[in-house]
Amino acid sequence: MKIPFATFKYMHAEIKDEMFSKFKDIYDKDWFILGDEVAKFEKEYAKYVGTKYCIGVGNGLEAIILALLALGINADDEVIIPSNTFIATALAVSYIGAKPILVDPDINTYNLSKVGLEEAITPKTKAIIAVHLYGQSADIAEIKAIAKKHHLYLIEDCAQAHNAKYKNKKVGTFGDIGCFSFYPGKNLGALGDAGAVVTNNLKLAEKIRALANYGSIKKYQHIYKGLNSRLDELQAGFLRIKLKHLDDYTKEKVKLAQKYLSGINNPKIILPTIGINRTHVFHVFAIRCQNRDDLQKYLAKHDIETGIHYPISIAKQKAYKSDMLNDLPIAKQIADEELSLPLYYGMTDEEINYVIDTINKY
Ligand SMILES: *Cc1c(COP(=O)(O)O)cnc(C)c1O
Repeated sequence: MKIPFATFKYMHAEIKDEMFSKFKDIYDKDWFILGDEVAKFEKEYAKYVGTKYCIGVGNGLEAIILALLALGINADDEVIIPSNTFIATALAVSYIGAKPILVDPDINTYNLSKVGLEEAITPKTKAIIAVHLYGQSADIAEIKAIAKKHHLYLIEDCAQAHNAKYKNKKVGTFGDIGCFSFYPGKNLGALGDAGAVVTNNLKLAEKIRALANYGSIKKYQHIYKGLNSRLDELQAGFLRIKLKHLDDYTKEKVKLAQKYLSGINNPKIILPTIGINRTHVFHVFAIRCQNRDDLQKYLAKHDIETGIHYPISIAKQKAYKSDMLNDLPIAKQIADEELSLPLYYGMTDEEINYVIDTINKY
């Protein structure tokens, strides 16, 4: 049996007719940027997350760049981020000229907690970006309390955690601004690049909307040196269809993850831990193993495709070598030991049991 790391096969078969007819509608409507579909999606997604405003943007990286710009973060400011996040979180900070400051996550949840946070704050610190990594909420209440105490902005990078909750409130509602990616492989994915920014602050929402559209509110009048980062009508239309099913997609991934959690029983494997007061939507089912590379080869030999999130920590990336970022021990450990197991909507019992049995025999 061949098990892919991920596939859209089952999900996209179910909604194929609806997606095709959406394409036809938009094609016939003859309007592709800043139209009805985007406006409707923004309304629906804000409601889904539980914020007042949502602005559709080009992708997740630009969502974070726009958030930093809207908050007035400048060159020479410092922004705290987790040491083990996807590179986009760091790149957004670097892109606006500010300096990313790495803080190691909790080794059990792989997410930021209050540990190490206050020690990283300097007079130059302006913001914290909390990433809800792998689909689990970070320790967001504690992080928020520290941000508040030190008068720092809080941005949530929710790119991997659509629909994840902390104390029954969805991620994206805790910080000043929440940033989402709808890259195809995320838990809510478009058929191309797409993203969104959510906030409860009208002024920030208006500024982000302008910044994402050439710094303009009125055509040909530019109040900011903005960029072009807009969600397009087609992607918004496709996302509206998938959004209707996101609760079901989430439930299915959680159900499959629970099968892994109860089925995998091997002293060489460390299974994911869910912290208190929060949910995990399992964008990534991350296990750890001291012989990770060997385990990955063994699984590949048995036709099981896996991933690594991420094999090289930010501090060790060539792009960041000259920035003298310290490679922190937990980031290094996760980069050395993490392995992501196959997990996708429609995965059959036969498929998941095969993965479980193969891992247990390792
Ligand atoms: C995917 C991702 C992003 C970037 O999103 P894109 O849409 O690919 O630009 C940012 N942060 C995290 C944690 C991600 O996983």
